[in-house]
Amino acid sequence: MNATVYRNGRLHMEAVPLERLAAEVGTPVYCYSLAALQQNYRDFVSAADGLNAAVCYAVKANSNVAIIAALNRLGAGADVVSIGEMRRALAAGVPAGKIVFSGVGKKKAEMAEALQAGIMQINVESEAELRLLSDVAVAAGKTATLAVRINPDVDAGTHAKITTGKKENKFGVDYDHARRVYAVAKQLPGLNPVGVAVHIGSQITDVKPYRAAYELVAELVRNLRRDGIAIDRIDLGGGLGIVYGQENAPSLTEYMKIVRETVGDLGCHLTFEPGRWMVGNIGVLLAEVIYVKPGQARNFVVVDAAMNDLIRPTLYEAYHGIKPVILPESGAESVLSDVVGPICESGDYLAKGRELPPLASGDLIVLESAGAYGAVMASTYNTRPLVPEVLVDGERYAVIRPRQTLEELLAADRVPPWLK
Ligand SMILES: *Cc1c(COP(=O)(O)O)cnc(C)c1O
Repeated sequence: MNATVYRNGRLHMEAVPLERLAAEVGTPVYCYSLAALQQNYRDFVSAADGLNAAVCYAVKANSNVAIIAALNRLGAGADVVSIGEMRRALAAGVPAGKIVFSGVGKKKAEMAEALQAGIMQINVESEAELRLLSDVAVAAGKTATLAVRINPDVDAGTHAKITTGKKENKFGVDYDHARRVYAVAKQLPGLNPVGVAVHIGSQITDVKPYRAAYELVAELVRNLRRDGIAIDRIDLGGGLGIVYGQENAPSLTEYMKIVRETVGDLGCHLTFEPGRWMVGNIGVLLAEVIYVKPGQARNFVVVDAAMNDLIRPTLYEAYHGIKPVILPESGAESVLSDVVGPICESGDYLAKGRELPPLASGDLIVLESAGAYGAVMASTYNTRPLVPEVLVDGERYAVIRPRQTLEELLAADRVPPWLK
């Protein structure tokens, strides 16, 4: 489902004209479509029909409490990678029993808080973490229900910065050591190893690597059962890609077929952790053109959004489609343009070498597919206030995070008395 649509030449999100959002909330601003979010969730769940499975939305893709709450209302749980994200999930109303805690560097206090909250499962990524978790659980008088995240050494065929299932990546326990780690888990006090977890990367568009990874998971489950460890849960991770530009959309049906064929007959409860797939296409970043600078090689369109608001182009060479909020006259000639922000870095660009309609100061544009890893990665670099977020529902919308004010931003700093 497309998050935006032109009506009479003007771009809308659901029934709200984006010009109106820009006028009322200001730019830059992230805008998300609730209908698109709900559609994505329903599509995912219906593709998983018949499987004994739960969806734990990977909160880090877009952790606004309103987004988590919207998914929670549909039945989703949450996959969190910090105690901050766990608090967000709880604040959004997600029951603790539907929260999975992943991540390679959990600290003692985070483990203790997660155990206290009584979350569904902690996904452990190393033997050192296992030992610490045992200590924390014993001290708290709790039993930690856990899965071990394995590293299957499978190439997910994605960008180097978002591949996670190769030996050289920091994530998970080497497949070859997994059985030994489970044996340690079984013998340590305070631990209840019940699951195997895997997550091989993000923005995966070819689903074949999933088959390789899930076959290894199935083999491990069988081996562990032989070892006397009663595994009855599998966490399949996330990673399904979306269409930003020219890439093929991964087939959800194909993906679920792989799941059924590899781990479907083990009698395990399955967890899916889609992040990007759930929210990537539900949102746009709406920005206003400040200046147009004709250059010798190309036009520079300077907009009021920048790498601090959306870092994906800078960080991953990511592509985001660009659309004008008002369609140009038919026949208007397109211009080769770079879309850049005001930040003092050459890496501060949102798009390079695009054929765009002629744009002028004051025009509005959107960067498409900005719902995932957009607002969550925003910073205040160059003392630019954190970008606001809006959720659209039919004819109405709500600001789900107001724009930070400069006063709030500055108030966070403290000058020590001995410098005054
Ligand atoms: C980031 C992450 C996800 C979600 O990845 P997407 O590519 O956004 O679907 C799922 N599980 C774990 C453990 C993660 O770290």
